[in-house]
Amino acid sequence: MSNMEFIPVQSFNNYVEAHIAMGNLQQQHINCWLKDEYTVTIDPILANAVGGIKLMVAKVQVPRAVEILKQAAGNKHPHYACPHCSSHEIQMVDIPQKETNLFAVLINKLFGNKTKAAEQIWHCFACGNNCKQPVEISSGAMEDAS
Ligand SMILES: [Zn+2]
Repeated sequence: MSNMEFIPVQSFNNYVEAHIAMGNLQQQHINCWLKDEYTVTIDPILANAVGGIKLMVAKVQVPRAVEILKQAAGNKHPHYACPHCSSHEIQMVDIPQKETNLFAVLINKLFGNKTKAAEQIWHCFACGNNCKQPVEISSGAMEDAS
């Protein structure tokens, strides 16, 4: 199968949400990638012009991918909440380190991977904010915010 066909199943104006969605699919062994990621990330103003970052999925896996994306959209974290809006619709994501700091990249290559290759952040789907550390909810005091 040399000419596998890919179909856009979802588009994003948000780099972080695009990566979260792709990560969710890849965990389920869905063959997928992000189209126009470079353009949108470099210049957010262009996001509308190119229609955002498109999540491309192998045609034969599209029905399963859509199911996974639907499930992930409704996920609420049981123990952590967004510090900005208190929503539980947050998810941890590894953001690939951008190679803007050439010196840091060089140090990593010379001295081994002592610093993290990817930055871990939490993304809130309710308000769109990112944070390093969400609010931890102890299971005993947990209330249903919805
Ligand atoms: Zn929030």
